[in-house]
Amino acid sequence: MLCPECQGGTMSQSPTRIIGITGGIGSGKSTVSNYLADVYKLPVLDADIYARLAVQTGSPILSQIVARYGSDILLPSSTLNRRSLGEIVFSSPTERQWLEQQIHPYVRRCLETELKSISQQCSTAVLVVPLLFEAGMTDLVTEIWVVYCSPTQQLERLMERDGLTLEQAQARINSQMPIQEKCDRATVVLDNSSTLEALLTQVDKAYDITTVCFPR
Ligand code: ATP
Repeated sequence: MLCPECQGGTMSQSPTRIIGITGGIGSGKSTVSNYLADVYKLPVLDADIYARLAVQTGSPILSQIVARYGSDILLPSSTLNRRSLGEIVFSSPTERQWLEQQIHPYVRRCLETELKSISQQCSTAVLVVPLLFEAGMTDLVTEIWVVYCSPTQQLERLMERDGLTLEQAQARINSQMPIQEKCDRATVVLDNSSTLEALLTQVDKAYDITTVCFPR
């Protein structure tokens, strides 16, 4: 997903601006990054995509998961049963920590590689990393935008979007660092407790139009 405006840019060592988008689960991170990609044509790297690649069929990490939980963790198609794994890790901090220790280094390597590749053409990039703080990846970005909404809205949106029960949605929220701590460490806090329009107005403000991805 390279910025069309940047094609043909001169080579550079690294992007000067790397916006890290994080926040609670279901708080609106993708909504913000999709907008930045659509309106400002910024390249977006999504940690969730690499986290899914990490456990694809045949991967060493999937083998580790099967070794730990048995082949019942696989679907008949031999792909990971994500729902079953979710039930395990969202009810056990120890298991979640184990899984994250397998996946986070892989995701970091992917992001670093992609950033290098993108930096050759773009001076601005966006990383969407739900566990930016928890995974210790803040050093990958030059600024941190935390997307925030009220706990009730977060629960409602998560249950509606993913078809989760109240307990399942709450367990996912509880597994993350408290949102207030994330807000305290943010460069920019985007309040997504109101309408979509209100959120996007804040994004426009946070994003300096003069730094739109340009060739260097
Ligand atoms: P995840 O952590 O699971 O990746 P996310 O932080 O990327 O989620 P989104 O997928 O952007 O969150 O938003 C979660 C849900 O809430 C989506 O269904 C989205 O359409 C909806 N949503 C986001 N912002 C608003 C808003 N201001 N008003 C109503 N619905 C919203």
